[in-house]
Amino acid sequence: IFPLGGKRVWVAGHRGMVGRAIVRRLAGQGCTIVSPETRVDLRDQAATIAWIDSAKIDLIFLAAAKVGGIAANDAFPGEFLYDNLMIAANVIEGARRAGVAKLVFLGSSCIFPKLAAQPMAESALLTGQLEPTNEWYAIAKIAGLKLCAAYRRQYGCDFISAQPTNLYGPFDNFDLESSHVLPALMRKAHDAKLAGAAAMTVWGSGTPLREFLHVDDLADALVYLAQTYSDEEFVNIGTGDEVNIAVLARHVADAVGFDGDLVFDASRPDGTPRKLVDTTKLNGLGWRPSVPLNQGIPAVYRWFLEHHNEGA
Ligand code: GDP
Repeated sequence: IFPLGGKRVWVAGHRGMVGRAIVRRLAGQGCTIVSPETRVDLRDQAATIAWIDSAKIDLIFLAAAKVGGIAANDAFPGEFLYDNLMIAANVIEGARRAGVAKLVFLGSSCIFPKLAAQPMAESALLTGQLEPTNEWYAIAKIAGLKLCAAYRRQYGCDFISAQPTNLYGPFDNFDLESSHVLPALMRKAHDAKLAGAAAMTVWGSGTPLREFLHVDDLADALVYLAQTYSDEEFVNIGTGDEVNIAVLARHVADAVGFDGDLVFDASRPDGTPRKLVDTTKLNGLGWRPSVPLNQGIPAVYRWFLEHHNEGA
């Protein structure tokens, strides 16, 4: 049990979709959110350690990462591996040296083997080959999870890890090449609607199955785990529901108001065929999501309409 009242909390990655959601969720919890006055490059060990040491932090949410969809992962393997390894190592080591009481590290569902049995329980980690399109990111995230576990064993640090399924929400990346599927489809449907186009393009076959969690639900789960969970094994965070990409594309197009056709581009990769996390453990800890996809998609589209002129 780790009460938030009076605590100094640093959300690493507070400009990103996940970090912003955590900051929103922490409002009114009686904690103080701290962040560096000038931006710290978390790949820089000396700068990161100095910041953590100076800030007298009690709790860190490590939501900083270099992230991207299937195309970005494939195009920038060096950056995805190096940047994410360095961020994890520097922040976790900095937290240990400064005696930070609690740290919550974020994994990703791509850490599981490509052909893991579905739904994927926490125990499926490292039981098979990774999906090649995002193995670089996955290796860095696995290293981060293991660092938290190793520091708990060797130094007694109360560092925990959570592993969210595919996320969506406000402040997502809506850039067509580097984004994940849901914001990409939203932008495509929006552009197609404005252009009066007859069709919009969906990558791959449309058959892969994915699970989508609203980032506000993720933030709620992370804050819950920070307060209640203290163990070596990471915790999956998901909804338990999945949808195939073709059906998702139709849902998104409907929410946007685009009623043209969907054209499937087989030259684009499908990635892993199915990616559903087993949330038995999380549910057993007493947490469940509250934003269903049929409410979350229209809500994000409303956000997109208000913000896309600002570069969303
Ligand atoms: P993944 O979950 O790690 O595979 O990453 P993505 O969210 O990028 O892709 C999920 C699935 O959606 C893959 O099968 C993609 O081929 C498919 N997909 C369909 N259209 C798009 C699109 O416009 N952008 C992206 N990123 N994926 C798309």
